[in-house]
Amino acid sequence: MKILTVENLSKSFGGIQANRDISFDVEEGSILGVIGPNGAGKSTLFDLITGFTKADTGKVKFFDKDIFGMSPDKISNLGVGRTFQKLKPFADQTLLENVMIGAFVKEKDIKRARDRALEIIDFVDLIEKRHHFAKELSTGQRKRLEMARAMAIDPKLLLMDEVTGGVDQKTIPGLVELVKKLKKTGVTIITIEHNINIIMEISDNVLALDQGKRIALGEPKEIQNNKQVIDAYLGTFDAA
Ligand code: ADP
Ligand code: MG
Repeated sequence: MKILTVENLSKSFGGIQANRDISFDVEEGSILGVIGPNGAGKSTLFDLITGFTKADTGKVKFFDKDIFGMSPDKISNLGVGRTFQKLKPFADQTLLENVMIGAFVKEKDIKRARDRALEIIDFVDLIEKRHHFAKELSTGQRKRLEMARAMAIDPKLLLMDEVTGGVDQKTIPGLVELVKKLKKTGVTIITIEHNINIIMEISDNVLALDQGKRIALGEPKEIQNNKQVIDAYLGTFDAA
């Protein structure tokens, strides 16, 4: 069953065509990895799907529902969660409070929202930090906070923008394990990821973008050997 269908999505910012005619779909329960050089249009694609930016043209379906042009709140309420490349936690609120804000989307009862938030904080392995302010957390911990907050709405589809970006090498494996653990719960995931080894390890399919265009879509092995992808992206990738 297709959980997401994107057809001919386009967006220009003035003269910059950030997304051009992008089409793809995502099978429920799978992980789609999204790759492409900086400025390829990856974050914009997430903004268009989740309603944070209005697309110029195209179609977006979540299961059978047309979500094109809906507000971010409505899309999130339907079960589409996301994390941001630029982390946006409420710095002066605790981890627990941050995650409760997400939990309130689904659960109005304070005690139940709190219990749900604690359950998710435990899932992301930060339970001992629950009363720490977001600003006291390390980058890796804030990435987990961001994931927890997105998970708190109980999404069926979760879009994650560079979960492992900007964290030090030793923090990466734990975050990758967390993504895998999340997949096991049945959540469908679309993840923007720069590290090609991680993409190969976790993705069922990979979408490659360059200059706002889809240049390839397929299984990780095909993508790794795709000439256009190598020219646009892997060729410039530091193999070390
Ligand atoms: P990526 O996430 O792949 O690095 P982005 O989607 O952030 O790429 O950006 C794609 C292009 O669109 C870039 O040239 C970027 O400068 C431009 N862009 C993105 N958002 C905006 C915006 N709000 N206003 C103007 N230009 C934007
Ligand atoms: Mg980006």
